[in-house]
Amino acid sequence: MTGRDIPWSPVLPDGLTVPNSSIHAVHDDDLADVLEALGLAGAFGRRELRCKFCEVVVDEANLYSIFADSGDIKVVCDKPDCVKALLRYTNQRTTIR
Ligand SMILES: [Zn+2]
Repeated sequence: MTGRDIPWSPVLPDGLTVPNSSIHAVHDDDLADVLEALGLAGAFGRRELRCKFCEVVVDEANLYSIFADSGDIKVVCDKPDCVKALLRYTNQRTTIR
């Protein structure tokens, strides 16, 4: 495997804009850059990041998406239930704003 498809949430911190529609495949090198830019590289490397919804440790094998939540950056694992929860969650946010 040379990379994996990570659907990026359009909800990102101020100052960090990712053209959502044009990034569909994020390779490991890019992922490292994104994590670094978000200040998450250290925690990710130490396996300290947990899925917002099921709290499983998220690593390179099961990372589904990264998104901003009330100023914090959250990660989501790739379980179908968590993917659905994320879609609901981001749709709500979009609607509210
Ligand atoms: Zn999860």
